[in-house]
Amino acid sequence: MKLPNIDKQYLIEFLTGLLNTPSPTGFTQQAIHFTELALREFPEIELSKTRKGALAATFPGQRADAPRALTAHVDTLGAMVKEIKANGRLKLSKIGGYAWNTVEGEGCTIFSSRGESQRGALLLTRASSHVFSTQVNELKREDENMEVRLDVRTNSVAETRSLGIEVGDFVAFDPRVEVVHGFVRSRDLDDKSGVACLLAAVKAMHDAGQQPIQTSTILFSNYEEVGHGAASGIPVNVAELLTVDMAAIGEGQASDEFHATLCVKDSGGPYHYDLNQRLRKLAEEHRIAYKVDIYPYYGSDGEAFWRAGGDVAIALIGPGVDASHSYERTHMDALVATTQWLLAFLLSE
Ligand SMILES: [Zn+2]
Repeated sequence: MKLPNIDKQYLIEFLTGLLNTPSPTGFTQQAIHFTELALREFPEIELSKTRKGALAATFPGQRADAPRALTAHVDTLGAMVKEIKANGRLKLSKIGGYAWNTVEGEGCTIFSSRGESQRGALLLTRASSHVFSTQVNELKREDENMEVRLDVRTNSVAETRSLGIEVGDFVAFDPRVEVVHGFVRSRDLDDKSGVACLLAAVKAMHDAGQQPIQTSTILFSNYEEVGHGAASGIPVNVAELLTVDMAAIGEGQASDEFHATLCVKDSGGPYHYDLNQRLRKLAEEHRIAYKVDIYPYYGSDGEAFWRAGGDVAIALIGPGVDASHSYERTHMDALVATTQWLLAFLLSE
């Protein structure tokens, strides 16, 4: 069996659009809406929202005796306004697990509860080397020493509050998306690259007039970065869950930017042996560029569902993403390989 053709242009355009839609965990409405609009182009897909705000897309299959689920998350790292400082600048509280130095100097948008937004940048409190000399190097990158400098005149709590900014406002860091020589360099490829691969797989099946073997529900979850994304939202009757999330690259890792990776074990332990074996077999059969790897500091939405009591076989695949939770990068080859693998899974017995 030959896999349907993948529209690479579509994949990259959807991915770029999603990357440019801010969606820190807890503030994902726009990204969910963006994904929903794209899926509405495929009338065979049934769409619904969970009460938690995730999007479920059901692709009716030829059979439904062992339905399947797939999941990827639209939420990303980000921050919240923790405090308005006496100088009018903002102290932040992180959303998700990352180090401040990975966003130091980055532009950001603050979303007020009035529905307005302001621009600024995250900086060290002692950023100027002409004033603070070696402290610029030495200061620990922790909450106390980081602040948002707003790009609007303010020097006091009152002036900042008059802009509508309050404690609890969401902050999104600029993704700075660039596509160069097949590479996609951007923040938040975790896991918007996985979401884009799922959309590309749906489009490939739609264009080819194909239906999955089993009815398959795709959950676009919205709380993964804080650990409980897909804990709910997966239909209880599914037999298998394929989690689509980035592969971690670095010294000692097998993953790279040109392959899709099957993660057999991460911080939550091993995934499902039989499902892993089937995925390996499918990759071999369809000559999909793949690696097998273990991620030392990593948890997934699949495990969130297992921990919540999900009684299903779970596996994890995804494109290799360099410098994860920092200024990330992947390559078209990894995105295509992941999409092929998704198609092979959806079209397999
Ligand atoms: Zn992720």
